[in-house]
Amino acid sequence: MLNVVIFGPPGAGKGTQSKKIIEKYGLKHISTGDLLRNEIASGSELGERIKAKIDKGKLISDEIITDILVNEIDKMGKDIPGIIFDGFPRTLNQAEMLYNLLEERGMEVKVMIDLEVDEEELIKRLLYRAKVAGRSDDTIDVIKKRLKVYHKKTEPVIDFYKKKGKFRKIDGSGSIDEIFARIDKVLSELLQ
Ligand code: AMP
Repeated sequence: MLNVVIFGPPGAGKGTQSKKIIEKYGLKHISTGDLLRNEIASGSELGERIKAKIDKGKLISDEIITDILVNEIDKMGKDIPGIIFDGFPRTLNQAEMLYNLLEERGMEVKVMIDLEVDEEELIKRLLYRAKVAGRSDDTIDVIKKRLKVYHKKTEPVIDFYKKKGKFRKIDGSGSIDEIFARIDKVLSELLQ
């Protein structure tokens, strides 16, 4: 099974590249951001609490996220080519939880693809996305907060995968196809 963590700061292109990877490799997609936005759209009380946090650029608690995630993984079953984890893990604790829950199911993350993009470009992309996708957390103040949270809480996850020998850095600048070609090279090598 080719289980992949797609990683990087907000605006790095994780969602866009996930789509390309899914097209070519047939992986299943788990985007915790999308799952949270679905919960908000359902109008539930939990959704309301989640929205309040997302709109401030804060992270949702590890417990809520892991519950949602376990549910998704178990729904997919094991007869799949693999899963792409997009937007998860976002804390060291989540990385450990993911490791354990996959191990319990006889699964593991094969690689973490870290998309590296400079901060100026990230802000440019996020402000553009704000115009076309209308996400309530793509305002300049919330973007800055999300980048801060990324550096403080999410970036340390890189070391977790480095220690396990699973970390691969990818230049996330250039066109969508150029970036995908770099990712494709790493994934096709892993499958050999
Ligand atoms: P994303 O679509 O991945 O950019 O996520 C949007 C927002 O959802 C983030 O800014 C967080 O508030 C929340 N979120 C998504 N994934 C996670 C996660 N793994 N842990 C905590 N919060 C998350």
